[in-house]
Amino acid sequence: MQWRGRRESGNVVDRRGMKTMGTLGGGGIILAILYALLGGDPSAIVDSGRETTPVNTNDDQTRFLRVVLADTEDVWNRAFQAVGRTYQEPKLVLFSGRVQSACGMASSAVGPFYCPGDQRLYLDTDFFQQLAGKLGAQGDFAQAYVIAHEVGHHVQQQLGLLRQGSSVATELQADCLAGYWARSTQSMNQSLEPGDVEEAMNAASSVGDDALQQASQGYVVPDSFTHGSSKQRMAAFRQGFEAEDFRNCDTNPAG
Ligand SMILES: [Zn+2]
Repeated sequence: MQWRGRRESGNVVDRRGMKTMGTLGGGGIILAILYALLGGDPSAIVDSGRETTPVNTNDDQTRFLRVVLADTEDVWNRAFQAVGRTYQEPKLVLFSGRVQSACGMASSAVGPFYCPGDQRLYLDTDFFQQLAGKLGAQGDFAQAYVIAHEVGHHVQQQLGLLRQGSSVATELQADCLAGYWARSTQSMNQSLEPGDVEEAMNAASSVGDDALQQASQGYVVPDSFTHGSSKQRMAAFRQGFEAEDFRNCDTNPAG
């Protein structure tokens, strides 16, 4: 993917290297209480205390993610406008180890996730090492697909399609929306390079539940699938990539 020199999103929040507890010193607590007494939202102070000391935020990895997020903003702003709606851009929180979200405390072990409660995407960038290594999905567009899938959940949330708990249909629809994004960003920016779509498809396949279970347990238990099989996920991504309209992702790609 061609990303250098392109617009970077301002919606990436870097919490890597942050401790999830005890970041608020005594002075900060007093300040937060005073602020609350004056009618302010104390979390404004708490949040800024946690989020203003980013680690190496201008490395290639982080800049790449900011460009991908910006690409999703461009595509979804336009797609929502076309159907008379306004897209609320989500934040992408980068963390390492553990992170506090409105959905509770989460560790890296859960993988990248979207929290509807605070409308944020959460990503431990170490996941990409796992994706490229153990899961065998290499390439920058494999990473872009992961972000686009989580953004897909945000799109579902915005459209009222995200139901409580995750289901195979919800996950496959997010893959379809990721495919639609890949196609749209290509027609808007001509940013895809040969092999990018294959990288995304390979990633969609690698993170299919059967592949994940194979990697972690050495066997497959179809009944416990929540994201869909590798084949289903690739089909869903392809369906979105070939769709003229994101609303075509409404139908179940597996069915
Ligand atoms: Zn998902």
